[in-house]
Amino acid sequence: MKDINKLIIANWKMNPQSIKEVETIFTNVSKSIKNIKNTDIVICPPFPFLFLKAKIKNKFIKLGSQDVFYEKDGSYTGEVSTSMLNNFGVEYILIGHSERRSQGEGNEIINKKIITTLKAKMFPIFCIGEKERDNNGFYLSFIKQQIIEGLSNITKIQVKNIVIAYEPIWAIGANATREATSLEFIETRIYIKKIIADLYDIKTANEIKIIYGGSVNPLNARIFLEEGNADGLLVGRDSLNPKKFCSIINLASK
Ligand code: PEP
Repeated sequence: MKDINKLIIANWKMNPQSIKEVETIFTNVSKSIKNIKNTDIVICPPFPFLFLKAKIKNKFIKLGSQDVFYEKDGSYTGEVSTSMLNNFGVEYILIGHSERRSQGEGNEIINKKIITTLKAKMFPIFCIGEKERDNNGFYLSFIKQQIIEGLSNITKIQVKNIVIAYEPIWAIGANATREATSLEFIETRIYIKKIIADLYDIKTANEIKIIYGGSVNPLNARIFLEEGNADGLLVGRDSLNPKKFCSIINLASK
């Protein structure tokens, strides 16, 4: 049966710059979320700050990482393994974020990272999304290819543990050209489900979580959650502001 909890994920990216700031954000978020319902919160700090989560005794906050490498161990300078992340209590891993894809990460590498994450019994947050929404619908085949190649060799049982984050690049970050509409999310959500149904079956398509990311803020979060029926949100900039992040969490927890 589908887990009905909404998933609210914070992607801090390469922020903040000090332990003190991390502690302040963790503490303020933790203080404000004592009684939330039907909501799972995942915070993905940069690797060096993962250890600080242990200081926060809040059962609602789970830990995520922003990336992982697909090999177990060895001579891979700069990389981090699932076992290392496991030591810090990491449960979720962002994979295929557009900011990593823009550094050259392709679908084949992303697929390996997803498989490694699943084998380690952690949850991949598989990020997909097009650069632009052209009028001819080419973006649909682009998304389809990301999904098919990203999920290659992943079984029906495994795929249920993957969260798909639809993040149109044109709506992400400070350079976003505009905000996405709930209708655009609904259309893409149905399209993703159709691809999953074709790859696996309808039941699997209905069980897999599809969340939205791209300039989510306290004003538009409700639109994606309620009108768009998103299973959750991936929040970048506004996740660094505890007040804004907590109001997004409260909207999900209603
Ligand atoms: C992101 O990059 O995953 C993201 C959603 O960023 P922002 O909310 O800042 O657009």
